Amino acid sequence: MTTSRVLLDLDGTYAREVPGLSVPWSAVTAPAPRLLVLNEQVAAELGVDPAALREPAGVSLLVGNDLPEGVTTTALAYAGHQWGVYKPSLGDGRALLLGEVVDSRGRRRDLHLKGTGPTPFARGYDGMATVGPMLREYLMGEAMHALGIPTTRALAVVTTGAQVQRDRALPGAVLCRVAASHLRVGTVQYAAASGDPTVLRALADHAIARHFPDAADADRPYLELFRRVVDAQAALVARWMLVGFVHGVMSTDNTTISGETIDYGPCAFMDTVDPATVFSSLDTTGRYAYGKQPSILQWNLARLGESLLPLLGSVDGAVEDVLASFPEAYEEYWAAGMAAKLGLRAPDPQLATDLMALLHAQQVDFTTFFRALSAGTARDLFLDREAFDAWAARREALLPADRADLAARMDRVNPVYIPRNHLTDAALGAAEQGDLAPFHQLLDAISSPFDHRPGLEAFTRPASTGALPHITYCGT
Ligand code: AMP
Ligand code: MG
Repeated sequence: MTTSRVLLDLDGTYAREVPGLSVPWSAVTAPAPRLLVLNEQVAAELGVDPAALREPAGVSLLVGNDLPEGVTTTALAYAGHQWGVYKPSLGDGRALLLGEVVDSRGRRRDLHLKGTGPTPFARGYDGMATVGPMLREYLMGEAMHALGIPTTRALAVVTTGAQVQRDRALPGAVLCRVAASHLRVGTVQYAAASGDPTVLRALADHAIARHFPDAADADRPYLELFRRVVDAQAALVARWMLVGFVHGVMSTDNTTISGETIDYGPCAFMDTVDPATVFSSLDTTGRYAYGKQPSILQWNLARLGESLLPLLGSVDGAVEDVLASFPEAYEEYWAAGMAAKLGLRAPDPQLATDLMALLHAQQVDFTTFFRALSAGTARDLFLDREAFDAWAARREALLPADRADLAARMDRVNPVYIPRNHLTDAALGAAEQGDLAPFHQLLDAISSPFDHRPGLEAFTRPASTGALPHITYCGT
């Protein structure tokens, strides 16, 4: 524990318990830090007074400057496969772990700062972040949280007063992010590559204690750890698929051990259904396309399994067996989620799969469809109405006899408001010019995604046809 309790009681169990996977490092000094957005709900969960965070000392802490006595920020080491290629040393190139906080529900959370200057992992990049992408991460995390999907969340975005050179000079920013932890598949890969089994063991023990404490009682705790991560990630990617979320950069360093969504870069929500949907300018081969996400995740989990092998003793096919359970676990989560979206009492994977094919063929907007289905207007969305009728008749036969609460049940899991690409781009563009009003309007809409509110119609519409396809540029 730190000696200072001024704002946050910052702890550092990771650096203490797991040697060799973090480097003490300081943030660059932000010349003129100014708070742009503060997440009061997250502040309350952390047990920190939002008013104190708005004070100069609070804003300074949120950019990693003027740390309380005894607090050391650290850059975290990790490796990772990016685009399928192994990079032995990635790590926090532009981010620092501020510390750990036990929140008001007793959960240990990481506070992590992104955009704090180059660290020893910067690989020649500038270590900076800019306002637009950091607000984007804030918005996307809140959208996912409001949808009930496990995710890191932003506590704050602070503009630093520094200019950051991208394709043009942009205002610099630091995002303060809250996460169950920052352990990634890439962290385990890094520990395994160190060749020191004590490091790998310390990391795995820390991961078990922090995320899956009862796995410690299993016959083979490290195999159980692997099983739990596979299950948590299968559940997570199913949730992504059920809301049309495309992460965009599913490298192994962006796959968490906790099962939270992390690192919102060129991510976006799909409009019209197409498994090939990609938003990242870098993803020219569609490696991380919407429809590929479950199989890419399984590939990432295979990298986790092989990294844990040194801890698993005899090689008896157990890792392969756990890995082989992934497709079935994923299908089960997905089919159960689709059943809820369609108002069915029991999953019908074939009906759900056929729907996705039909929505794709008919170029129907994914989010619009499910609310139209509960409202009885879905047929209007199809050019081939008979194809819809044939599918709808199959669904009809599976609906419960008592339909009094059918629409209400469906509407509790099918969002009206998601951060649609054209709205997000417009809001972030305005924010870069100093106008945060559109950002707050969009944030407000997506923070209660299931509650239809009059006056917010503009937030439900896809971009007009003929609009340029949405592209997000990485490396920002
Ligand atoms: P990301 O795409 O944000 O997951 O980042 C991938 C890797 O690149 C991580 O190791 C980051 O720390 C690093 N990185 C990304 N942008 C920068 C930057 N501007 N300066 C230093 N490192 C960066
Ligand atoms: Mg990352």
